[in-house]
Amino acid sequence: MDRVDVAIVGAGVVGLSIAAHVARPDRSVLLVERHESFGREASSRNSEVIHASIYYPPDSLKGTLCRRGNELMYALCRRHDIPHRNMGKLVVAVTEEEAASLPALLEVARGNGAAGVRLVDGGEARRLDPNVRCVGAMHCPSSGVVDSHALMQHFRAVALNAGAAEAYGVTLRSLERVADGFRLGVEERTGTRFEFEARAVVNAAGMGAGEVAALAGIDQDEAHYRIHYRKGMYFRVMRGIDKLPSMLVYPVPPQDATVGIHTCPDLAGGMRLGPHDTWVDSVDYTVPEDLGDLFFEAVKPFLPSLDRGDIQADMAGIQSKRFGPGEPSRDFVIRDEADRGLPGLIDLIGIESPGLTSSPAIGEMVSGLVEDALAR
Ligand SMILES: Cc1cc2nc3c(=O)[nH]c(=O)nc-3n(C[C@H](O)[C@H](O)[C@H](O)COP(=O)(O)OP(=O)(O)OC[C@H]3O[C@@H](n4cnc5c(N)ncnc54)[C@H](O)[C@@H]3O)c2cc1C
Repeated sequence: MDRVDVAIVGAGVVGLSIAAHVARPDRSVLLVERHESFGREASSRNSEVIHASIYYPPDSLKGTLCRRGNELMYALCRRHDIPHRNMGKLVVAVTEEEAASLPALLEVARGNGAAGVRLVDGGEARRLDPNVRCVGAMHCPSSGVVDSHALMQHFRAVALNAGAAEAYGVTLRSLERVADGFRLGVEERTGTRFEFEARAVVNAAGMGAGEVAALAGIDQDEAHYRIHYRKGMYFRVMRGIDKLPSMLVYPVPPQDATVGIHTCPDLAGGMRLGPHDTWVDSVDYTVPEDLGDLFFEAVKPFLPSLDRGDIQADMAGIQSKRFGPGEPSRDFVIRDEADRGLPGLIDLIGIESPGLTSSPAIGEMVSGLVEDALAR
């Protein structure tokens, strides 16, 4: 294959959703992924929460795509039997001081368009989930969890059924603008290199997205495309969850611009706690066992039945952020780079949380950009 209509770089949940949305029998679409299979990075190392968009500004891409993604996600999961659970979320206040901050939190959540959010007192919170202790909470009924692997398998199956092809173990090394599109230089695991052309290129490379844009000549620093790695670590609750919450339970957000260590019930009946976030310079998925006290102290106030011996270090994932330590948060970038002289290069940069929730909506949005690029 020396020429395709659309090349998609990155087979995480975002690249796969885009492939599912753009593939058609009369169009050649190729997914290029450096690992031996799909979903080996952020898309399989996250909390699997379907977010309600309580924290993202309403007119940001994070806000609009999260709200649309939340709706699309439940519809998709119901229609295609993708394992998921809409158990709702409680953002819990464990002191009167924290409770005093809940009305402001509710106002932000409502302003951001989160569906059905309301405040409940400690008694009602306990009726919603008997294993939670708090003096008050914000209830977000549209939060839930999804099996991210099953979601990716669904997108992949839709893409392949519509005629898309995939190339695994293949890393993009060069990206050059040519007369009617782009020339892509790729390298296989064996070191073999080859080139092909694409009329449109979608950069859904997660941690590698800034570098892919740079291959096309975009200055990562000037564009704010440089990716900073934020590692999120999890501990697992090692016993049955009969005395632990079945809902998502989050603390009132701490002052460090994180959502705080929360419960992540999984669909197999288990539960993780996390994430605890830290900036890293390189990919490192280790979780030090000696963080156990920190995790325990963080959740003990609202999970009184938990014992220190119940938790063990589990897994970690890395968020791809467009900002580094001390810098203000930045939105997703999703755009055709026509104004940089690169029409048909569609960059997706900084697709951190809520990227999983947003993935069906991102697929929808990018498919519009691809149609425009191919129609030029
Ligand atoms: C700890 C953590 C918790 C999170 N929790 C949630 C949550 O609860 N809810 C939510 O909505 N979101 C959450 N997220 C965010 C969500 O997981 C991501 O936004 C989403 O998975 C991003 O998907 P992606 O396809 O863009 O990236 P990825 O899954 O990272 O995929 C990118 C792919 O590109 C490939 N690639 C990179 N460079 C190249 C190259 N040069 N050539 C070929 N292939 C390349 C990579 O190998 C990778 O497979 C969380 C993320 C983390 C890390």
